[in-house]
Amino acid sequence: MKLSLIIPCYNEEKNIKPFYQECLKVFKDEKNIEYIFINDGSKDKTHYEIKELIKSNQNINISYLNFSRNFGKEAAILAGMKQAQGDYISIIDADLQQNPKYVKKMLEFLENNPDYDSVACYQEKRKESKILIHFKNMFYSIINKLSEIDFKSNASDFRVLSKQVVNSILEMEEYYRFSKGLFSWVGYNTYYMPYEVEERKHGKSSWSFFGLIKYAMNGIISFSLAPLKLASILGSISFIGSLIYLIIIIIQKITVGIEISGYATIVCLILLFGGLQMILIGIIGEYLGRTYIEVKRRPKYIIKEKISTKEGITK
Ligand code: UDP
Ligand code: MG
Repeated sequence: MKLSLIIPCYNEEKNIKPFYQECLKVFKDEKNIEYIFINDGSKDKTHYEIKELIKSNQNINISYLNFSRNFGKEAAILAGMKQAQGDYISIIDADLQQNPKYVKKMLEFLENNPDYDSVACYQEKRKESKILIHFKNMFYSIINKLSEIDFKSNASDFRVLSKQVVNSILEMEEYYRFSKGLFSWVGYNTYYMPYEVEERKHGKSSWSFFGLIKYAMNGIISFSLAPLKLASILGSISFIGSLIYLIIIIIQKITVGIEISGYATIVCLILLFGGLQMILIGIIGEYLGRTYIEVKRRPKYIIKEKISTKEGITK
């Protein structure tokens, strides 16, 4: 098998057919290709649409993994990678925002440049609101400062990876998977290729603004321990500050004496440090909570049903 396409699908009933048609157009001369659709607990008829596709394309290599509920795109990518047989593996969205023609371009690049192990698409011009672009840039600059690995700004998970890269990614067993970080963490030579993102064909994006913030926090916590060090840094600063203030008070007491006042200052300081401590406990709690989930070693997804054009139905 030359190429495996991993297609995570969540509520994509209207996109499955057009997506497949587009792929057929692009890969009409390429027979050595497998499609792996992962239905990530969709609430619409995505399930039905993929099954129909399989029924009417028995001569094409199509696999279908149906999750028992929504586990998230990262889990779907992982399941797809485990299933993939190809020498090259591509991750592509089902909503046609990422045109399959770029998969072909990425694949050709890898075949012609054996020094490279993966190609990642990035958006040169982001078609998003200015505020969102600003927040995303801020995220990349923060994570690049806090983390030891390099995150290429605007690089998506629309990629073609060699089997070797995928095997390395599969060796990482963590529950909280932040693909952009995993891709960078494993190393290898990645070529970044510009691409133009298209409008979503049907349905709507599953990302809300707060969803993106959660995703960004997940990335930072997964790939940096810097927030944990914040407690020591702030603690040291306030300790030194208090020490200086203590010396000033002692000198004041000896020289001019102290009137009883400063009620507002005391209340403000108690509230300030109380709040600060809560925030720091919260940060520690985030890491601790993750450690708790990780040690439970629960499966990252559950496959309810698996069908493929070659093997028939297995439950
Ligand atoms: N997706 C998924 N599980 C989810 C959310 C999304 O498998 O919980 C899939 C979705 O069907 C699509 C891809 O991930 O193929 C990207 O999702 P979306 O278009 O919502 O994200 P955006 O393009 O807005 O970043
Ligand atoms: Mg999309």
